[in-house]
Amino acid sequence: MYIVQIASECAPVIKAGGLGDVVYGLSRELENQGHTVELILPMYDCMRYDQIWGLHDAYKELSVPWDGGAIHCSVFCGWVHGRLCFFIQPHSIENFFNRGYYYGGNDDNLRFAFFSKAALEFLLQSNKRPDVIHCHDWQTGLIPVMLYEMYKFYGMANQRVCYTIHNFKHQGIGGMEVLRGTGLNNEVYYYNYDRLRDNFNPFAINFMKGGIVYSNFVNTVSPHHAWEARFTGISCGLGHTLEIHQDKFGGILNGIDFDVWNPESDRFIPHHYTAATFAEKAKNKKALRERLWLRHSGSAQGEQADQPLVCYIGRLDDQKGVHLVHHALYHTLARGGQFVLLGSATERGINDWFWREKINTNNNPDAHLELGFNEELSHLIYAGADIIVVPSNYEPCGLTQVIGLRYGTVPVVRGVGGLLNTIFDYDYDPNHPPEKRNGFMFFEPDQPGLNSALDRAIDLYAKNPPRFQQLAMGGMHYDNSWKHPAKIY
Ligand code: ADP
Repeated sequence: MYIVQIASECAPVIKAGGLGDVVYGLSRELENQGHTVELILPMYDCMRYDQIWGLHDAYKELSVPWDGGAIHCSVFCGWVHGRLCFFIQPHSIENFFNRGYYYGGNDDNLRFAFFSKAALEFLLQSNKRPDVIHCHDWQTGLIPVMLYEMYKFYGMANQRVCYTIHNFKHQGIGGMEVLRGTGLNNEVYYYNYDRLRDNFNPFAINFMKGGIVYSNFVNTVSPHHAWEARFTGISCGLGHTLEIHQDKFGGILNGIDFDVWNPESDRFIPHHYTAATFAEKAKNKKALRERLWLRHSGSAQGEQADQPLVCYIGRLDDQKGVHLVHHALYHTLARGGQFVLLGSATERGINDWFWREKINTNNNPDAHLELGFNEELSHLIYAGADIIVVPSNYEPCGLTQVIGLRYGTVPVVRGVGGLLNTIFDYDYDPNHPPEKRNGFMFFEPDQPGLNSALDRAIDLYAKNPPRFQQLAMGGMHYDNSWKHPAKIY
């Protein structure tokens, strides 16, 4: 099949979170399985140009109809670690993608509505006719709408759309300006509850709702989250729409790219290891401590040190249960462990809060808070830590716990969304025999809840190191690669 992925991220060139990992990893595996895959992405000024090979202009004169006129775009082409990517660069006073950020503008809805329109226009004008267009999240929700309502009549009648929702919280809300811009001009027609009208705000259109209504297949990124989306409030007002379209809605668990995330060959960690050479992992712990100026404890190099090193990697956002991340830091310190946090916040209040904590713990030899985005450091932390906490309020899939497993770092997670599909509690999981269990889980989103799981992990680490090591090594054997999910797609 010929598949075109249209998305706002693709790791490692554009990555704000798991979406980037998924777009890259899934594309690569689909190619491995014999499909032809191309990607269309925005050309941000702040993306990692050092991760693109052979960037050149592929299409200089792309004129994209917009707001009654047209915006002239250039399309560049290059390879991101083997994937063929087309980058769309608009030339207009709005400066859609030259702002030093991926998301966060007041006009994000217009920026990505334009990108969606430009991507379709590029397919049309360059005569690309994929079998499947795979769109991701709200940023590309209008693609199936425009395909069905407009581009079908221009010669793209045979393209089918798969729409993957990575996070229901951000849905893309707009008004008349979006309809005018994209040329979906029939206000009465689109402001209809069966089409784009937001289920709760009668004055708004909802991009993600459009994606659900108009796509041929809709999915979210884990089976349990698909269930939550339909039967709990987690889909932020789209439950009814999913109910109507239930026949084409499902959940496919994300994988991770087993070559990018591989402790046996990871170029960002100093000591490579596998489950069979697990002792080498302790050397990465030492390297991590050295890099972050943390105290060394325990016995000689290469042996298990006595202080457990607990980490958190991820966005600092209400979704991630930041109040529990904060608690995990101090609880770990109180239990005599060490804590490393790598995260960034877009919300000012959360950012200020964690900066204060960073200053508070500045002289503490057992804690380090790294505030910002650092891909390289994240690999070393996965390899060097003993335990990773993921106390999310909700989690469509979650990749950090799966990457943790791959690096023999034991996950302590809250039992929601994809965390329930990937982590099986060491003491209590009813569906897996003891040798198949791989972490610790809690359910109540409060401090005693987190303690109930984190304490069990720390106790096992301290009181029964061989069993803890067995648990960590067992996690490394899980196959959470893209092989199986890509087949389902
Ligand atoms: P999200 O909700 O952000 O998509 P996921 O768990 O699905 O969360 O994916 C997070 C991905 O982003 C992982 O690959 C993780 O390592 C990475 N990541 C998150 N925050 C940072 C950061 N501050 N620095 C480096 N990598 C990060």
